[in-house]
Amino acid sequence: MSTELEELYQEIILDHSRRPRNFGEVSGADVRVHGDNPACGDEIHLSAKFGSDGSFEDIKFNGHGCAISQASASLMTMKLKGKSRTEAEQLIEAFHKLVTGGTPNSGPKLGDLQLLGGVRKFPQRVKCAMLPWRAAEQAMQERSGEATVTTEVG
Ligand code: ZN
Repeated sequence: MSTELEELYQEIILDHSRRPRNFGEVSGADVRVHGDNPACGDEIHLSAKFGSDGSFEDIKFNGHGCAISQASASLMTMKLKGKSRTEAEQLIEAFHKLVTGGTPNSGPKLGDLQLLGGVRKFPQRVKCAMLPWRAAEQAMQERSGEATVTTEVG
């Protein structure tokens, strides 16, 4: 493993991948999204309950995959829980910029999620990091029912 790649697997990322937060399924969820990253074999099942104002009242995930995808999902659910629709959209956009090399320090604060910024050097890892966020984006679009999302285009 290269030094650069090792830096990706810092303590906090490993901690979240080993002991994911908000792991499970929201009871009485409004929406469930299955996210798939075939390039790596990551799978995320995201469930969420929305408040009457469209905010993330509760959000949980389960699934399996690499440390990056699991840590990203764990950190994401902590960040999105309780957030309004607008705040959640801004966070999704900010995280996307972070991992694809967009302008840093714009938009809302990402906290520990910034540790995942190192994936920008590894295109395959960007898919891992983005998988739960794509699922969250889909969840906000669908609002109810079930949906699937994949990192593979087309
Ligand atoms: Zn992965």
